[in-house]
Amino acid sequence: MEKILISSCLLGTPVRYDGTGVQLLHPQIMTWQQQKLIVSFCPEVAGGLPTPRDPAEISNDKVITNIGDDVTAEFKLGARKALQLCQQHNIRFALLKESSPSCGRNTIYDGSHSGTKVKGMGLKLHC
Ligand code: SF4
Repeated sequence: MEKILISSCLLGTPVRYDGTGVQLLHPQIMTWQQQKLIVSFCPEVAGGLPTPRDPAEISNDKVITNIGDDVTAEFKLGARKALQLCQQHNIRFALLKESSPSCGRNTIYDGSHSGTKVKGMGLKLHC
């Protein structure tokens, strides 16, 4: 059966910038866990960032924290590792945390660190 990549924080792992997780409770996830189909991954941690960490947002193709540090390299490394993992396991499906500058699929924060969301995706490798 096909594996499914899931953002680690959605499984309750405390890897978010503020040291928390956001466990998604759904019977299907429990079924996938029992079937050992889930591949849990956090690109920001894989990219070498600590937990907790300063929140970061995408701005002009860079990823910048709320104190002005450029963490683009770490985000790109995490994205590359996510791609490698998907290729390694032939993963075609993913359940990702919305609005994250790494995992976001439909929305992200606008880069102003003001809590404003816009349409967009987490960091793409061509950025
Ligand atoms: S990078 Fe993805 S998996 Fe990691 S904490 Fe952020 S949303 Fe969750």
